[in-house]
Amino acid sequence: MLVTDLRKSFNPYPKPKDMKKSSKETEQIIVKQIKQKSNKLAKKERNRFSILQKNDTKCFLCNKEQKKLDKHEAFGGSNRQKSMEFGLIYYLCRRCHNRADVDIVIRKYLHDFAKKKFIKKYSKEKFLEEFKNNYEE
Ligand SMILES: [Zn+2]
Repeated sequence: MLVTDLRKSFNPYPKPKDMKKSSKETEQIIVKQIKQKSNKLAKKERNRFSILQKNDTKCFLCNKEQKKLDKHEAFGGSNRQKSMEFGLIYYLCRRCHNRADVDIVIRKYLHDFAKKKFIKKYSKEKFLEEFKNNYEE
């Protein structure tokens, strides 16, 4: 008879040496996945475009011309990535950007405008599908 599983011939049989290795491998895979995810996000951030403004050198709110403006996602939180994906990006000067971050009226105005543009380009159904009903008028 040919013994193929030698572990049974040892007492105690050797611990599977791979146990440690495989958990380390799993760890490496997870780290890799996290890296890929953040790379993906970084790429999205780099490729931000806008369907809200043609001119990326004029502040959306105050119209001030500036070579380098901040990019501001119309919808934040869990919808920030969606905003990037669909080009719901505003170009704002630093001053207006700060205001947009704290001023609820400005934020609502930016939400409403982006929502309108999105619905015009796609549809109301798609807006509800992508952004749920978080931005009631
Ligand atoms: Zn401004």
